[in-house]
Amino acid sequence: MKVTKLNMYMAYDRQAGPGEAAVLVFHHTAKEARYLAWSEEMSDWGCEFVDATATRLDKSFEHLWDCYRGDGLPLLICDPPTCPNCKVWGYKLSADGKSCDGCANLIAP
Ligand SMILES: [Zn+2]
Repeated sequence: MKVTKLNMYMAYDRQAGPGEAAVLVFHHTAKEARYLAWSEEMSDWGCEFVDATATRLDKSFEHLWDCYRGDGLPLLICDPPTCPNCKVWGYKLSADGKSCDGCANLIAP
């Protein structure tokens, strides 16, 4: 069996946008991540499959990779760790872990 590494994706309803609701998915491809997220969770939101999309997040999102249990199987996380300041996830956290790129842009003078 060919062993492929998992990638990390943010799946969301492209009509509503990722700020509305998004889930974290560990899977091999965006296509598979999209289907898992949609069938397990997003269809419950009333999201149509055609509107479901998955965007790859790179390795620099260390705090999100920390969610992965590391057994090599795909995983869906409906409640990923959020930024303690703005309560949003999907941005890189600051070095002290108290804010993220998203709120840093808002706070910046
Ligand atoms: Zn933030």
